[in-house]
Amino acid sequence: MPSTVALLGVAIMSCVMSAAVLGSLLRAGVAGVSRWCAAYGMFAGALALVIAGAHLPVWLGAIAAHTLFVGGSLVILQGVREFFGRPLASAAEYAVVPAIFFAVIYLTYAKPNFDARVAISSTYFAYVRAAIAWTVWRYRPPTRPKYNYYFLSIAAFVGALIHAGRAITYGFGFDHQTAFLDPSPFNVAFLGLGILSFPFMSIAMVMLAHDRLAQRMERLATVDGLTGALVRRAFMERAESAVATARAQGTPVALAVLDIDNFKTVNDRYGHAAGDRALAHFGATVSRSLRQGDLFGRLGGEEFAVLFPATSEGEALRLTNALRAAVATQSCGQSTCTFSAGVDKFEAGDTLARVLVRADLALYAAKARGRDCVVMASSDGVAGERLEQPS
Ligand code: GH3
Ligand code: MG
Ligand code: MG
Repeated sequence: MPSTVALLGVAIMSCVMSAAVLGSLLRAGVAGVSRWCAAYGMFAGALALVIAGAHLPVWLGAIAAHTLFVGGSLVILQGVREFFGRPLASAAEYAVVPAIFFAVIYLTYAKPNFDARVAISSTYFAYVRAAIAWTVWRYRPPTRPKYNYYFLSIAAFVGALIHAGRAITYGFGFDHQTAFLDPSPFNVAFLGLGILSFPFMSIAMVMLAHDRLAQRMERLATVDGLTGALVRRAFMERAESAVATARAQGTPVALAVLDIDNFKTVNDRYGHAAGDRALAHFGATVSRSLRQGDLFGRLGGEEFAVLFPATSEGEALRLTNALRAAVATQSCGQSTCTFSAGVDKFEAGDTLARVLVRADLALYAAKARGRDCVVMASSDGVAGERLEQPS
């Protein structure tokens, strides 16, 4: 059996396995995975047609196989772009597929030239892999572990180099080929390397899909689904770390505790579902109004906290009052809702728990003053030193 046939046999098995592994991720609904899975099915079909080519009519063993390779490559690229939420393909990228199809027909029937066919399709495969490498590099999420994204980007880039090398070799006549399975050393080397890039790319795609799933899980564990605020544990962890950083840099940090006013009445009057909608609206309004780097957490029920890094107590009081005004002026469904807040700053040696207690005392003072206002804890821990409320 020629070595090229053995190589293609291995490639078929690898593509079928890749499609099966990607198929196991279909139910997770990760963007792009269904395209990747379909593309590997197309590659397996194309390779099977090539192996059986000697016993098939040319249109099936060569033209159809070729079209499946070209189409499958575009589908992989579409999947990568879908994964990153980008437009799937440009008009030119779509137009190239029929153009190659007709070029291959011409170079098969009208003016047979196998080298030109190889050069044209290899140029296209090199372009697709380079586009994959660039897309992954350009849109890799900055907050995720980089390894998976580098892996796919590098695997695709190496694949692009191999196909470009093949296009140059046959386009400029450094080697001649008369059939896809020609066992010349160049052809065996290019087929072997090209075939290796299949499992490399599919492993990388599985890694990307798993990273997306891990990201979902982390989000579920850290972000409150109703309000978009950090859950209490995540807020405390991140706040501790922000306070430690501020201490090391010698910058001030302040904290506000917020509690929605008369929320029980909202539930009693309009029902629990309306209360939930009001909470969601409150969370969205606060998240929108905060600065980058501020931490917003749900301490429990309708009580929240905001940590203001690199912020003096006076500035934190002003910012919290601006939040209060933003929430008070917006409708929360059936009614408007307001909140009261207590603010305090971190003194040298303060723990997060101590500052939370003092801000909470200030919050009680704000409630006692009639609600819909912000109170600063005084330096001796007694609430109510400074007050901001609607004019
Ligand atoms: P105050 O101005 O003194 O804070 O009055 P309040 O009515 O807001 O205070 P209280 O703490 O007595 O009531 C809070 C209510 O918030 C009680 C609870 O049922 C409601 N609540 C807590 N979490 C949720 C939630 O996730 N959804 C809904 N709809 N209600 C919630
Ligand atoms: Mg309340
Ligand atoms: Mg409360």
